[in-house]
Amino acid sequence: MTRTILKFPIYLDNNATTCCDERVLDAMVPFFSVHYGNAASRTHLFGWQAEEAVELAREQIAALIGADSKEIIFTSGATEGDNLAIKGVCESYASKGNHIITVSTEHKAVLDTCKHLEKKGARVTYLPVQTDGTISPEKLEAAITPDTVLIVVMYANNETGVVQPVNQIGRIARRHQVLLFTDAAQACGKTPINLANDPIDILALSAHKIYGPKGVGALYVRRRDPRVRLASQMDGGGHERGMRSGTLNVPGIVGLGKACEICRQDMQTESKRLAALRDKLETGLLSVGDSMVNGSREKRMQHVTNISFAGADAGALMTACHQTLAVSSGSACTSASIEPSYVLKALGLDDSLAHSSLRFALGRFTTEEEIDFAIIEIKRAVEAVRGANAIINRIKSTGV
Ligand SMILES: *Cc1c(COP(=O)(O)O)cnc(C)c1O
Repeated sequence: MTRTILKFPIYLDNNATTCCDERVLDAMVPFFSVHYGNAASRTHLFGWQAEEAVELAREQIAALIGADSKEIIFTSGATEGDNLAIKGVCESYASKGNHIITVSTEHKAVLDTCKHLEKKGARVTYLPVQTDGTISPEKLEAAITPDTVLIVVMYANNETGVVQPVNQIGRIARRHQVLLFTDAAQACGKTPINLANDPIDILALSAHKIYGPKGVGALYVRRRDPRVRLASQMDGGGHERGMRSGTLNVPGIVGLGKACEICRQDMQTESKRLAALRDKLETGLLSVGDSMVNGSREKRMQHVTNISFAGADAGALMTACHQTLAVSSGSACTSASIEPSYVLKALGLDDSLAHSSLRFALGRFTTEEEIDFAIIEIKRAVEAVRGANAIINRIKSTGV
Protein backbone atom coordinates (compact mmCIF):
# COMPACT_ATOMS: atom_id res chain seq x y z
CA MET A 1 0.00 0.00 0.00
CA THR A 2 1.37 3.39 -0.92
CA ARG A 3 0.79 6.21 1.50
CA THR A 4 1.15 9.83 0.69
CA ILE A 5 1.80 12.44 3.31
CA LEU A 6 -1.16 14.78 3.70
CA LYS A 7 -0.52 18.48 3.27
CA PHE A 8 -2.76 20.85 5.22
CA PRO A 9 -5.11 22.48 4.71
CA ILE A 10 -6.65 20.05 2.23
CA TYR A 11 -8.10 22.08 -0.64
CA LEU A 12 -11.75 21.25 -1.35
CA ASP A 13 -12.77 24.60 -2.83
CA ASN A 14 -12.08 23.94 -6.51
CA ASN A 15 -15.23 25.77 -7.62
CA ALA A 16 -13.77 29.02 -6.28
CA THR A 17 -10.52 28.48 -8.13
CA THR A 18 -8.06 25.72 -8.97
CA CYS A 19 -4.33 25.28 -8.65
CA CYS A 20 -2.57 26.13 -11.89
CA ASP A 21 -1.30 22.85 -13.40
CA GLU A 22 2.48 22.76 -13.68
CA ARG A 23 2.24 21.81 -17.36
CA VAL A 24 0.18 24.96 -17.89
CA LEU A 25 2.70 27.07 -16.01
CA ASP A 26 5.59 25.59 -18.02
CA ALA A 27 3.83 26.48 -21.27
CA MET A 28 3.23 30.06 -20.10
CA VAL A 29 6.65 31.00 -18.73
CA PRO A 30 8.50 31.72 -22.02
CA PHE A 31 5.78 34.16 -23.05
CA PHE A 32 6.63 36.48 -20.15
CA SER A 33 10.29 36.89 -20.94
CA VAL A 34 11.57 35.29 -24.15
CA HIS A 35 8.57 35.53 -26.48
CA TYR A 36 7.19 38.75 -25.07
CA GLY A 37 5.88 40.14 -28.34
CA ASN A 38 2.53 41.83 -28.83
CA ALA A 39 0.29 39.46 -30.81
CA ALA A 40 -0.96 42.44 -32.81
CA SER A 41 2.54 43.46 -33.98
CA ARG A 42 2.61 42.54 -37.65
CA THR A 43 6.07 43.83 -38.54
CA HIS A 44 8.53 41.53 -36.73
CA LEU A 45 9.26 38.06 -35.38
CA PHE A 46 8.28 38.92 -31.78
CA GLY A 47 4.75 39.72 -32.89
CA TRP A 48 4.49 36.74 -35.22
CA GLN A 49 5.56 34.30 -32.48
CA ALA A 50 3.04 35.73 -30.04
CA GLU A 51 0.31 35.59 -32.66
CA GLU A 52 1.16 31.99 -33.51
CA ALA A 53 0.92 31.02 -29.83
CA VAL A 54 -2.43 32.81 -29.50
CA GLU A 55 -3.81 31.05 -32.57
CA LEU A 56 -2.68 27.66 -31.22
CA ALA A 57 -4.49 28.44 -27.96
CA ARG A 58 -7.60 29.43 -29.91
CA GLU A 59 -7.54 26.03 -31.60
CA GLN A 60 -7.00 24.18 -28.33
CA ILE A 61 -10.01 25.92 -26.79
CA ALA A 62 -12.13 25.36 -29.90
CA ALA A 63 -11.19 21.66 -29.92
CA LEU A 64 -12.37 21.24 -26.33
CA ILE A 65 -15.87 22.58 -27.10
CA GLY A 66 -16.35 21.55 -30.72
CA ALA A 67 -16.15 25.08 -32.07
CA ASP A 68 -14.31 26.78 -34.90
CA SER A 69 -11.27 28.74 -33.68
CA LYS A 70 -12.71 31.87 -35.36
CA GLU A 71 -15.58 31.69 -32.86
CA ILE A 72 -13.30 32.18 -29.82
CA ILE A 73 -12.94 35.69 -28.31
CA PHE A 74 -10.43 36.15 -25.50
CA THR A 75 -11.60 37.87 -22.32
CA SER A 76 -10.31 38.42 -18.79
CA GLY A 77 -12.53 35.65 -17.43
CA ALA A 78 -16.11 34.51 -17.06
CA THR A 79 -17.24 37.75 -15.38
CA GLU A 80 -16.22 39.71 -18.45
CA GLY A 81 -17.67 37.02 -20.70
CA ASP A 82 -21.03 37.30 -18.89
CA ASN A 83 -20.98 41.10 -19.22
CA LEU A 84 -19.94 41.09 -22.86
CA ALA A 85 -22.46 38.45 -23.89
CA ILE A 86 -25.47 39.96 -22.14
CA LYS A 87 -24.75 43.66 -22.71
CA GLY A 88 -23.40 42.97 -26.20
CA VAL A 89 -26.54 41.12 -27.32
CA CYS A 90 -28.90 43.65 -25.74
CA GLU A 91 -27.16 46.48 -27.53
CA SER A 92 -26.93 44.70 -30.88
CA TYR A 93 -30.49 43.42 -30.92
CA ALA A 94 -32.18 46.48 -29.38
CA SER A 95 -34.31 46.91 -32.50
CA LYS A 96 -35.75 43.41 -32.02
CA GLY A 97 -36.65 43.83 -28.36
CA ASN A 98 -35.41 44.35 -24.84
CA HIS A 99 -36.51 41.25 -22.90
CA ILE A 100 -34.06 38.83 -21.27
CA ILE A 101 -34.93 35.56 -19.57
CA THR A 102 -32.58 34.22 -16.92
CA VAL A 103 -32.65 32.15 -13.73
CA SER A 104 -32.62 33.15 -10.04
CA THR A 105 -29.62 30.90 -9.27
CA GLU A 106 -27.25 32.37 -11.86
CA HIS A 107 -23.82 33.70 -10.87
CA LYS A 108 -23.72 37.31 -9.63
CA ALA A 109 -21.85 38.29 -12.79
CA VAL A 110 -25.04 37.45 -14.69
CA LEU A 111 -27.59 38.72 -12.16
CA ASP A 112 -25.83 42.03 -11.55
CA THR A 113 -25.42 42.58 -15.30
CA CYS A 114 -29.14 41.97 -15.76
CA LYS A 115 -29.97 44.37 -12.92
CA HIS A 116 -27.77 46.99 -14.58
CA LEU A 117 -29.67 46.57 -17.84
CA GLU A 118 -33.00 46.74 -16.05
CA LYS A 119 -32.04 50.21 -14.80
CA LYS A 120 -31.43 51.13 -18.42
CA GLY A 121 -34.88 50.00 -19.50
CA ALA A 122 -34.51 46.30 -20.26
CA ARG A 123 -37.13 43.84 -19.00
CA VAL A 124 -35.75 40.77 -17.24
CA THR A 125 -37.58 37.59 -16.22
CA TYR A 126 -35.87 35.68 -13.40
CA LEU A 127 -37.16 32.11 -13.57
CA PRO A 128 -37.41 30.21 -10.29
CA VAL A 129 -35.82 26.77 -9.96
CA GLN A 130 -37.46 23.57 -8.83
CA THR A 131 -36.37 21.99 -5.52
CA ASP A 132 -33.70 19.99 -7.37
CA GLY A 133 -32.16 23.24 -8.67
CA THR A 134 -33.10 22.78 -12.33
CA ILE A 135 -35.48 24.98 -14.28
CA SER A 136 -38.58 23.76 -16.00
CA PRO A 137 -38.16 24.04 -19.80
CA GLU A 138 -41.94 24.45 -20.11
CA LYS A 139 -41.93 27.50 -17.80
CA LEU A 140 -39.02 28.90 -19.76
CA GLU A 141 -40.86 28.50 -23.05
CA ALA A 142 -43.96 30.16 -21.57
CA ALA A 143 -41.86 33.19 -20.60
CA ILE A 144 -40.72 33.87 -24.18
CA THR A 145 -42.38 36.89 -25.78
CA PRO A 146 -41.93 38.47 -29.24
CA ASP A 147 -39.49 41.00 -27.76
CA THR A 148 -37.28 38.37 -26.05
CA VAL A 149 -33.72 38.72 -27.38
CA LEU A 150 -31.72 36.49 -25.05
CA ILE A 151 -32.01 33.49 -22.74
CA VAL A 152 -29.25 33.19 -20.13
CA VAL A 153 -28.93 29.85 -18.33
CA MET A 154 -25.72 28.67 -16.69
CA TYR A 155 -24.44 25.22 -17.61
CA ALA A 156 -23.59 24.09 -14.07
CA ASN A 157 -24.13 25.92 -10.80
CA ASN A 158 -21.06 26.96 -8.84
CA GLU A 159 -22.62 26.28 -5.43
CA THR A 160 -24.47 23.01 -5.99
CA GLY A 161 -22.97 21.64 -9.21
CA VAL A 162 -26.51 21.22 -10.58
CA VAL A 163 -26.50 20.99 -14.39
CA GLN A 164 -29.30 22.73 -16.29
CA PRO A 165 -30.96 21.11 -19.35
CA VAL A 166 -29.07 23.55 -21.56
CA ASN A 167 -29.47 21.64 -24.83
CA GLN A 168 -33.20 21.24 -24.34
CA ILE A 169 -33.41 24.96 -23.58
CA GLY A 170 -31.36 25.65 -26.71
CA ARG A 171 -33.83 23.75 -28.89
CA ILE A 172 -36.68 25.82 -27.44
CA ALA A 173 -34.67 29.02 -28.03
CA ARG A 174 -34.04 28.01 -31.66
CA ARG A 175 -37.72 27.35 -32.24
CA HIS A 176 -38.50 30.89 -31.11
CA GLN A 177 -35.45 32.43 -32.79
CA VAL A 178 -34.06 33.67 -29.49
CA LEU A 179 -30.34 33.50 -28.69
CA LEU A 180 -29.06 31.30 -25.84
CA PHE A 181 -26.05 32.29 -23.75
CA THR A 182 -24.60 29.90 -21.17
CA ASP A 183 -22.01 30.59 -18.48
CA ALA A 184 -20.05 27.33 -18.59
CA ALA A 185 -17.29 28.32 -16.16
CA GLN A 186 -18.08 25.29 -13.98
CA ALA A 187 -18.73 22.78 -16.73
CA CYS A 188 -16.30 23.44 -19.51
CA GLY A 189 -13.39 20.98 -19.48
CA LYS A 190 -15.22 18.78 -16.98
CA THR A 191 -18.14 17.52 -19.04
CA PRO A 192 -18.37 17.04 -22.82
CA ILE A 193 -19.57 20.10 -24.73
CA ASN A 194 -19.83 19.97 -28.51
CA LEU A 195 -20.99 23.21 -30.02
CA ALA A 196 -21.00 21.70 -33.49
CA ASN A 197 -24.24 20.00 -32.36
CA ASP A 198 -25.32 21.71 -29.14
CA PRO A 199 -27.80 24.56 -29.80
CA ILE A 200 -25.87 27.14 -27.78
CA ASP A 201 -25.09 30.52 -29.35
CA ILE A 202 -22.70 32.09 -26.85
CA LEU A 203 -20.69 30.40 -24.09
CA ALA A 204 -18.35 31.80 -21.43
CA LEU A 205 -15.46 29.96 -19.82
CA SER A 206 -12.66 30.85 -17.43
CA ALA A 207 -9.07 29.55 -17.22
CA HIS A 208 -8.68 29.53 -13.45
CA LYS A 209 -11.56 27.08 -12.98
CA ILE A 210 -9.79 24.52 -15.15
CA TYR A 211 -6.24 24.55 -13.74
CA GLY A 212 -5.17 27.58 -15.75
CA PRO A 213 -4.18 31.09 -14.65
CA LYS A 214 -6.50 33.73 -13.19
CA GLY A 215 -7.55 36.75 -15.21
CA VAL A 216 -8.10 35.08 -18.58
CA GLY A 217 -11.06 33.40 -20.22
CA ALA A 218 -12.85 33.01 -23.51
CA LEU A 219 -16.21 33.69 -25.04
CA TYR A 220 -17.53 31.44 -27.78
CA VAL A 221 -19.60 33.46 -30.24
CA ARG A 222 -21.41 31.44 -32.96
CA ARG A 223 -20.59 32.51 -36.49
CA ARG A 224 -23.13 30.48 -38.46
CA ASP A 225 -26.77 29.43 -38.05
CA PRO A 226 -27.20 31.93 -36.53
CA ARG A 227 -24.37 34.44 -36.83
CA VAL A 228 -24.36 36.24 -33.48
CA ARG A 229 -23.70 39.97 -33.37
CA LEU A 230 -22.15 41.36 -30.18
CA ALA A 231 -21.61 45.06 -29.53
CA SER A 232 -18.18 45.51 -27.99
CA GLN A 233 -18.05 46.73 -24.40
CA MET A 234 -14.38 47.67 -24.62
CA ASP A 235 -13.41 49.95 -27.48
CA GLY A 236 -9.90 50.42 -28.75
CA GLY A 237 -7.79 48.79 -31.39
CA GLY A 238 -10.52 46.53 -32.74
CA HIS A 239 -8.93 43.28 -31.55
CA GLU A 240 -10.89 40.02 -31.45
CA ARG A 241 -13.13 40.67 -34.48
CA GLY A 242 -13.93 44.08 -33.02
CA MET A 243 -15.72 42.54 -30.04
CA ARG A 244 -13.02 43.05 -27.43
CA SER A 245 -10.19 45.52 -27.80
CA GLY A 246 -7.03 45.50 -25.75
CA THR A 247 -3.59 43.93 -26.10
CA LEU A 248 -3.98 40.20 -25.67
CA ASN A 249 -2.73 38.58 -22.46
CA VAL A 250 -0.45 36.24 -24.38
CA PRO A 251 0.97 34.19 -21.44
CA GLY A 252 -2.51 33.83 -19.96
CA ILE A 253 -3.98 32.81 -23.29
CA VAL A 254 -1.22 30.23 -23.83
CA GLY A 255 -2.04 28.88 -20.36
CA LEU A 256 -5.76 28.72 -21.12
CA GLY A 257 -5.04 26.83 -24.34
CA LYS A 258 -2.84 24.32 -22.57
CA ALA A 259 -5.40 23.94 -19.76
CA CYS A 260 -8.07 23.12 -22.35
CA GLU A 261 -5.83 20.59 -24.08
CA ILE A 262 -5.18 18.76 -20.80
CA CYS A 263 -8.88 18.76 -19.91
CA ARG A 264 -9.77 17.33 -23.30
CA GLN A 265 -7.27 14.49 -22.88
CA ASP A 266 -8.13 13.70 -19.25
CA MET A 267 -11.83 14.38 -19.08
CA GLN A 268 -13.12 10.82 -19.37
CA THR A 269 -10.84 9.21 -16.79
CA GLU A 270 -10.81 12.23 -14.53
CA SER A 271 -14.57 12.58 -14.35
CA LYS A 272 -14.91 8.91 -13.33
CA ARG A 273 -12.19 9.27 -10.69
CA LEU A 274 -13.79 12.40 -9.25
CA ALA A 275 -17.28 10.86 -9.27
CA ALA A 276 -16.01 7.94 -7.18
CA LEU A 277 -14.23 10.24 -4.71
CA ARG A 278 -17.20 12.61 -4.45
CA ASP A 279 -19.58 9.72 -3.85
CA LYS A 280 -17.29 8.36 -1.15
CA LEU A 281 -17.16 11.77 0.53
CA GLU A 282 -20.91 12.20 0.26
CA THR A 283 -21.72 8.76 1.67
CA GLY A 284 -19.28 9.33 4.50
CA LEU A 285 -20.68 12.72 5.41
CA LEU A 286 -24.35 11.72 5.15
CA SER A 287 -23.70 9.00 7.74
CA VAL A 288 -23.45 11.75 10.36
CA GLY A 289 -27.26 11.98 10.27
CA ASP A 290 -29.64 14.94 9.93
CA SER A 291 -27.79 15.96 6.79
CA MET A 292 -28.87 16.21 3.18
CA VAL A 293 -27.50 16.92 -0.27
CA ASN A 294 -28.67 20.17 -1.85
CA GLY A 295 -29.83 19.99 -5.45
CA SER A 296 -30.29 17.09 -7.82
CA ARG A 297 -27.93 14.19 -7.15
CA GLU A 298 -28.24 12.96 -10.73
CA LYS A 299 -28.17 16.14 -12.82
CA ARG A 300 -24.97 17.35 -11.23
CA MET A 301 -21.26 17.81 -11.88
CA GLN A 302 -19.27 14.82 -10.65
CA HIS A 303 -16.85 16.76 -8.48
CA VAL A 304 -19.26 18.76 -6.32
CA THR A 305 -21.45 18.11 -3.32
CA ASN A 306 -23.28 20.71 -1.26
CA ILE A 307 -24.49 19.35 2.07
CA SER A 308 -26.66 20.81 4.83
CA PHE A 309 -25.90 19.67 8.37
CA ALA A 310 -29.03 20.62 10.31
CA GLY A 311 -28.25 22.36 13.57
CA ALA A 312 -24.59 23.00 12.75
CA ASP A 313 -23.72 26.49 11.56
CA ALA A 314 -21.42 26.48 8.52
CA GLY A 315 -19.26 29.22 9.99
CA ALA A 316 -18.75 27.21 13.17
CA LEU A 317 -17.95 24.09 11.14
CA MET A 318 -15.35 25.91 9.05
CA THR A 319 -13.80 27.43 12.16
CA ALA A 320 -13.63 23.99 13.74
CA CYS A 321 -11.54 22.62 10.88
CA HIS A 322 -9.87 25.65 9.34
CA GLN A 323 -6.40 24.25 9.99
CA THR A 324 -7.06 21.06 8.08
CA LEU A 325 -9.70 21.81 5.44
CA ALA A 326 -10.32 24.57 2.90
CA VAL A 327 -14.03 24.47 2.09
CA SER A 328 -16.66 27.15 1.71
CA SER A 329 -20.23 27.72 2.76
CA GLY A 330 -22.98 27.59 0.17
CA SER A 331 -22.59 31.29 -0.44
CA ALA A 332 -19.40 31.38 -2.45
CA CYS A 333 -18.46 35.06 -2.68
CA THR A 334 -20.33 36.07 0.43
CA SER A 335 -18.87 33.66 2.98
CA ALA A 336 -18.02 36.65 5.18
CA SER A 337 -21.54 38.02 4.97
CA ILE A 338 -24.42 37.05 7.21
CA GLU A 339 -26.74 36.66 4.23
CA PRO A 340 -27.55 33.02 3.54
CA SER A 341 -26.91 31.70 0.04
CA TYR A 342 -29.50 32.94 -2.47
CA VAL A 343 -28.87 29.80 -4.49
CA LEU A 344 -29.79 27.47 -1.62
CA LYS A 345 -32.78 29.63 -0.69
CA ALA A 346 -33.99 29.38 -4.29
CA LEU A 347 -34.01 25.59 -3.82
CA GLY A 348 -36.44 26.08 -0.93
CA LEU A 349 -34.05 25.89 2.04
CA ASP A 350 -34.92 28.09 5.01
CA ASP A 351 -32.32 30.57 6.34
CA SER A 352 -31.18 28.28 9.12
CA LEU A 353 -30.54 25.29 6.85
CA ALA A 354 -28.91 27.49 4.20
CA HIS A 355 -26.59 28.72 6.96
CA SER A 356 -25.72 25.10 7.83
CA SER A 357 -24.44 24.12 4.40
CA LEU A 358 -20.97 23.43 3.11
CA ARG A 359 -19.80 23.13 -0.47
CA PHE A 360 -17.16 20.53 -1.25
CA ALA A 361 -15.56 20.86 -4.67
CA LEU A 362 -12.96 18.23 -5.55
CA GLY A 363 -10.34 18.66 -8.23
CA ARG A 364 -7.50 17.21 -10.25
CA PHE A 365 -5.14 17.13 -7.27
CA THR A 366 -7.60 15.69 -4.74
CA THR A 367 -6.50 12.26 -3.46
CA GLU A 368 -8.40 9.45 -1.78
CA GLU A 369 -6.37 9.94 1.42
CA GLU A 370 -7.54 13.54 1.52
CA ILE A 371 -11.16 12.45 1.17
CA ASP A 372 -10.78 9.83 3.92
CA PHE A 373 -9.34 12.49 6.18
CA ALA A 374 -12.01 15.07 5.27
CA ILE A 375 -14.80 12.66 6.19
CA ILE A 376 -13.37 12.09 9.67
CA GLU A 377 -12.69 15.78 10.19
CA ILE A 378 -16.11 17.05 9.10
CA LYS A 379 -17.96 14.40 11.08
CA ARG A 380 -15.95 15.35 14.16
CA ALA A 381 -16.75 19.04 13.58
CA VAL A 382 -20.48 18.43 13.03
CA GLU A 383 -20.73 16.37 16.21
CA ALA A 384 -18.77 18.96 18.19
CA VAL A 385 -20.86 21.91 16.97
CA ARG A 386 -24.13 20.06 17.50
CA GLY A 387 -22.95 18.98 20.95
CA ALA A 388 -22.11 22.55 21.90
CA ASN A 389 -25.47 23.75 20.61
CA ALA A 390 -27.28 21.12 22.67
CA ILE A 391 -25.54 22.35 25.83
CA ILE A 392 -26.34 25.98 25.02
CA ASN A 393 -29.98 25.14 24.36
CA ARG A 394 -30.25 23.22 27.63
CA ILE A 395 -28.82 26.15 29.55
CA LYS A 396 -31.20 28.52 27.79
CA SER A 397 -34.26 26.41 28.55
CA THR A 398 -33.43 25.27 32.10
CA GLY A 399 -30.97 27.87 33.29
CA VAL A 400 -28.41 25.19 34.30
C1 LIG B 1 -16.03 31.62 -11.23
C2 LIG B 1 -17.28 31.88 -11.98
C3 LIG B 1 -17.47 33.09 -12.64
C4 LIG B 1 -16.44 34.21 -12.60
O1 LIG B 1 -15.36 33.87 -13.39
P1 LIG B 1 -14.04 34.79 -13.36
O2 LIG B 1 -13.19 34.21 -14.43
O3 LIG B 1 -13.46 34.59 -11.99
O4 LIG B 1 -14.45 36.18 -13.62
C5 LIG B 1 -18.64 33.28 -13.33
N1 LIG B 1 -19.57 32.32 -13.39
C6 LIG B 1 -19.43 31.15 -12.77
C7 LIG B 1 -20.49 30.12 -12.87
C8 LIG B 1 -18.29 30.89 -12.03
O5 LIG B 1 -18.16 29.74 -11.39
